[in-house]
Amino acid sequence: MWDDQRLLEFLPRAEAAAAQRALLRDHVAYAFANSPFYRRKLAAFADLIPDLTEDTLSELPMTDKSEFATENESFLATPMQQVTDTVFSSGTTGNPTAVMYSRHDVERLAFNERISLRGCGITADDIGLMTCTLDRCFVAGFAYYLGLLTIGATVARNGIASVQSHAQVMRRLRPTVLVGVPGFLTKLGLYLRESGQENLLESVRKIVCAGDPLRDREMNPLPVTARLEAIWGAKAYSTYASSEIISSFCECTAQRGGHLHPELAVVEIVDDQGKRVPAGEVGEVVVTPLKIESMPFVRFRTGDLSFLIDEPCSCGRTSVRLGPILGRKAQLMKVRGTSVYPAAFFQVLDAHPGIGGSYLTVRGDKNLSDEVTVTVSVTDASLTAAEIAEALHAVLRIHPTVVIDTAENVAGKIFDPLSHKPRRFFDERNK
Ligand SMILES: [Zn+2]
Repeated sequence: MWDDQRLLEFLPRAEAAAAQRALLRDHVAYAFANSPFYRRKLAAFADLIPDLTEDTLSELPMTDKSEFATENESFLATPMQQVTDTVFSSGTTGNPTAVMYSRHDVERLAFNERISLRGCGITADDIGLMTCTLDRCFVAGFAYYLGLLTIGATVARNGIASVQSHAQVMRRLRPTVLVGVPGFLTKLGLYLRESGQENLLESVRKIVCAGDPLRDREMNPLPVTARLEAIWGAKAYSTYASSEIISSFCECTAQRGGHLHPELAVVEIVDDQGKRVPAGEVGEVVVTPLKIESMPFVRFRTGDLSFLIDEPCSCGRTSVRLGPILGRKAQLMKVRGTSVYPAAFFQVLDAHPGIGGSYLTVRGDKNLSDEVTVTVSVTDASLTAAEIAEALHAVLRIHPTVVIDTAENVAGKIFDPLSHKPRRFFDERNK
C-alpha cells in the first residue's frame, strides 16, 4: 500500500496523473459509500463519481470547516472501534473538532511524513530534536515524529521545553536536524550563542519548520528565515499541513516550495467562486486527501491562501509545488480600498531593526474600512511610532496606527499559556 520505492512525484506527469485519477475515483466512491456526511452531500453527484477526473472534480461541492465542526460525527466512515488516534483542531466555532485516524490513516501519515522529510535530505543517519508538542491531541509533532522514526533516524522528543532543557539534550545527542517553529528555534540559537555554547550549533545541518511560512511571494527567504539559517549555519525547510487533510508538503533540497505527493492528495487553488485558478495565481488551498479511511474529505477548504508552482525542480521530482501560505482567507483586511493580509505587516515589522515583538489588532469601522492597530515593543529606545508607521506605509501603502508598548505587555499578549503557538493577529471585526 505504501510504496516508498515508486513515488508518483518522480514519474512522468501523464503516468502520475493516470495513477492519481484511479486513486481519486476510489477515494470519492469510498467517502460516498461510507461517510454519512458525503452520502448526503454527494447524492446529487453520484453519476460523476465512477468517471471522475481532476477536471470534473471541480464540479463536486467543497466542504468547509464550519460543516466539519457542526456535523463532526457524520464524517466518520469507519466504526469507532477502528479509530486509533484522535486529534482536536480548534475549528471555527470555538468547540474543538475531532479528526479521527484509523491505524491505516496513522500509517499513511507516517508514509507522508517520511517521503516529505526524505525530500529535504533527511536520512537514517540523522539525529532529530523535536521542539514542538507531541501530546495534547495535536497532530504536527506526532507526524514529524512518525516520519523521523520510520526513516530510521534517531529522535529526541523533547517537545515544548525551555532553551536550557534543549541545550542539555543537545550536549548529549548532538542533533543534526531540528524540528519546530522558526521563532523558537531562532531564540534557541541566540541563547546558545549568548551563553557561550556556540559549539552546540555546529552539529545541526537542517531545520524543519512548522507553522510560519519561510518565503515571500517571489520565493525569496523572508528576513526571519535568513536570520534563522545564519544563526545555525543550516538550511531551513518549510512544511505545510493541517490536521483535517492529514497530508503535509515539505520543501525539497531546492527550498522552492513543498512538493505535492500525487498518491496522497489532490490539491486545487480556487478563487472566491470556487473556480480553479492556474498555477502561479493566488487562491484558497482546497485539498482532497486520498486513501483516508476514518474521516475522508472531498474538496476540503483549508482557508489558507497560496499558489502552485509548475516549473521543473532541480531535485528531479516532477510534481508541482505549493508556495508559501500568504495569509488566511478570513484574515483579509480592507483598509481604504487596499486589501492586505497580516503576514505582509509582519514581514516589514520582523525585518525592521529595533523592533522586539509585535502584534496586530483589527476592528471594523462604520465606513466599511478596517482599522488596523500595530502594537510593538522596541529594543531601540530612540525608535518612534511615526518612523514605524512610515516604514509600513512605504511597503503597504496604508497608514496604520502604531502603538509602542513594553516588551512584557507585548509578549504577554502574544504568548497565551493556553495556546500551543504564539498569536499575533487579533480580529475584533465581528465583535
Ligand atoms: Zn524539488
